[in-house]
Amino acid sequence: MTTWNEYVEKSGTLPKWPYPIRYDKVNQITTDVLILGGGVAGCHASISAARNGAKVVLTETGHAKRSGSGGAGVDHWHGACTNPCSKVTPLDYTQAVMECAHGYSDGIARYVICSEGWDTLLECEEMGVQIRDVKDEFKGADFRDDKTKLMFAYDYRSRHVVRVWGYNIKPCLYKEMRRLGVGIYNRVVITSLLTEGGKQGGRVVGATGVNTRTGEFYVFKSKATIIASGGAGRLFSFAPEVTAAGSMANMNSVGTGHAIGWDAGAEFVLMEQTGPGRLAGFGYAPYSMGNASNTYHGTPIVDANGKEVPYFDPYGRELKTVKERFLPSPEQKFQLGIGIGLYFYLKQYVLNDLARDLPERIRRGEFALPLYADLTRLPELERRAIFGMMVGNEGKTRIPIYDQFTKAGFDPDKDMLQASIMLPEYYQNSNFWGGNQIPHLRSLAGGGFLIDWDLRTSLEGLYAAGGAPLFGGGCHGEAHTSGRYTGRKAAAYAKTAAEPKIDRKQVEREKRRVYAPLKQNKNGVGWKELNYAISRVMQDYCGKYKNETTLNLGLRLLKELKENEAATAYASNPHELGRTQECLSLISLGELVMNASMARKCSSVYLDFYRLDYPQMDPPEWEKLLPIRQEDNEVKVRELPLDFHLKPPYASSYEENYKLHA
Ligand SMILES: Cc1cc2nc3c(=O)[nH]c(=O)nc-3n(C[C@H](O)[C@H](O)[C@H](O)COP(=O)(O)OP(=O)(O)OC[C@H]3O[C@@H](n4cnc5c(N)ncnc54)[C@H](O)[C@@H]3O)c2cc1C
Repeated sequence: MTTWNEYVEKSGTLPKWPYPIRYDKVNQITTDVLILGGGVAGCHASISAARNGAKVVLTETGHAKRSGSGGAGVDHWHGACTNPCSKVTPLDYTQAVMECAHGYSDGIARYVICSEGWDTLLECEEMGVQIRDVKDEFKGADFRDDKTKLMFAYDYRSRHVVRVWGYNIKPCLYKEMRRLGVGIYNRVVITSLLTEGGKQGGRVVGATGVNTRTGEFYVFKSKATIIASGGAGRLFSFAPEVTAAGSMANMNSVGTGHAIGWDAGAEFVLMEQTGPGRLAGFGYAPYSMGNASNTYHGTPIVDANGKEVPYFDPYGRELKTVKERFLPSPEQKFQLGIGIGLYFYLKQYVLNDLARDLPERIRRGEFALPLYADLTRLPELERRAIFGMMVGNEGKTRIPIYDQFTKAGFDPDKDMLQASIMLPEYYQNSNFWGGNQIPHLRSLAGGGFLIDWDLRTSLEGLYAAGGAPLFGGGCHGEAHTSGRYTGRKAAAYAKTAAEPKIDRKQVEREKRRVYAPLKQNKNGVGWKELNYAISRVMQDYCGKYKNETTLNLGLRLLKELKENEAATAYASNPHELGRTQECLSLISLGELVMNASMARKCSSVYLDFYRLDYPQMDPPEWEKLLPIRQEDNEVKVRELPLDFHLKPPYASSYEENYKLHA
């Protein structure tokens, strides 16, 4: 194989574009269910829709075999409440999450996920994913059930998070999609939704896209459409050349699904909620540094002199043994895990952790930096479960961390992993590889499409699934499970839905818009400059602290970007064309986030949302959702109670609604 450098050296020139370019060629594809985004949610949605008798098409910017946040693997599966060892019911779990979020989350998605998460994992097992300790490598460990050979993470008594060997989960889903005859369109960036009569707010009847290798245009006609295009890592920060930039929020994570839904007139909630942008590229490669969070939960941390940082339960009791770190305290019913899309944990559900005043202890010299993760202090089976099983299967750690470190001689039986050296305040969060946080960098949090008990959006024919487009969506296992559920619901809808009709004028308008960057003056900005500018506007005008004036200025700047730089942006090949389309999506998404932020005239600790002009925290009259949408391009906001999902037209209990809809 020739490397890039060898090629250039030998030929004295850059390689030619390696694919045939066929701009303006239009491909028309008709299907029952169309899935936008081939991450784990989209792939599982395809499988489920196909198994329910629908003709299915899936489109993906990358390659569905490995694309998305879960493409490289998974090590723990949340919300498996109905597994045979779980002590937590779907209702307990849902209520705990809703209590922690103070109601600002999605009870529908959470209940569905908790009710079907285990069944979904069993499906993955059938497809070839190892979910049990079949080789008896961990026999006798506290976290293992000897009868089922299942292994658990975090809270070893409650047993609702399953440890899995998920490095091959995407290839397994991919194989099953192929077996079921799903039409897979890789390297196609979706650019818009098509609506009946071309009207904002009309029934969704398909989508358009462009191939980033050939430049061909795609018109997909569908009875039902599922948005599963993940989050928007490039909205608040864009640093493709910075180490680890692509690790937590990959380059294809641009919120297209949100943007095209917003432009089509769908309703969104909680888009004003943002969290620290810790994972957006300025830290270290995920799980590469010493830390005690998530995959490394319970790991002993020592200082430069070998002094161990104590662990505490949430009620301030020091935990003397390793065993206690994995058990709920007497006041707790159970503990919830980390990374379930929840930004605020109540004491009664929070995990045991390192001393919560660690920053203060570092400042006064009790612990000397740097800190280290000392896995040697763990019992052998705990150590092997973390550095071995989990780091060996976690997304994006198998090769860059487990494989590289091991080849370089790292031995968890003898060696320690250094934590990143940061300002003392950043040791508050035991996820140390996030590095020093940059305060004005934010990331989207729990917001997304408002959905009903079918996970259908406010637009007929349009469904949402996965970690991000679905409000309150969660993480890996949750994304599979919501995908599986929507796939089933979309297939059922498609069976009786009227034949979709595409509005030709809408398609022609979109085609002109998509190809415009190819026809611009070559002095126009490129997609990278455009993305930097969008992120900068978001950081400055819609950062952690904002007011009416900054938001209005931000909206004005986004509009100016759209009308000037974006309107004259230049793309020289199909790849740049696709990336430019993504930037246009980012502008729409930025407008949605700023408008949603404008609508909430209060501050909220639960939403990590701070309005300098409305500093009052969580006034009772603002404890509500504010569904937002566009109608004739005008922004419309209404109010909805936080527990809307248990109020008419729905039944008053989770169980009953689930029974009626699932
Ligand atoms: C390093 C890492 C480790 C993690 N570890 C865990 C873990 O152990 N446990 C856990 O629960 N969660 C974990 N997560 C989170 C979990 O992986 C994600 O929540 C989950 O994979 C989200 O899946 P998704 O399908 O909803 O979205 P994504 O994975 O983001 O997939 C969306 C897909 O849509 C495609 N797409 C985007 N825009 C377009 C467009 N315009 N047209 C066509 N396609 C498009 C993207 O290319 C992508 O493939 C981890 C995440 C990372 C990054």
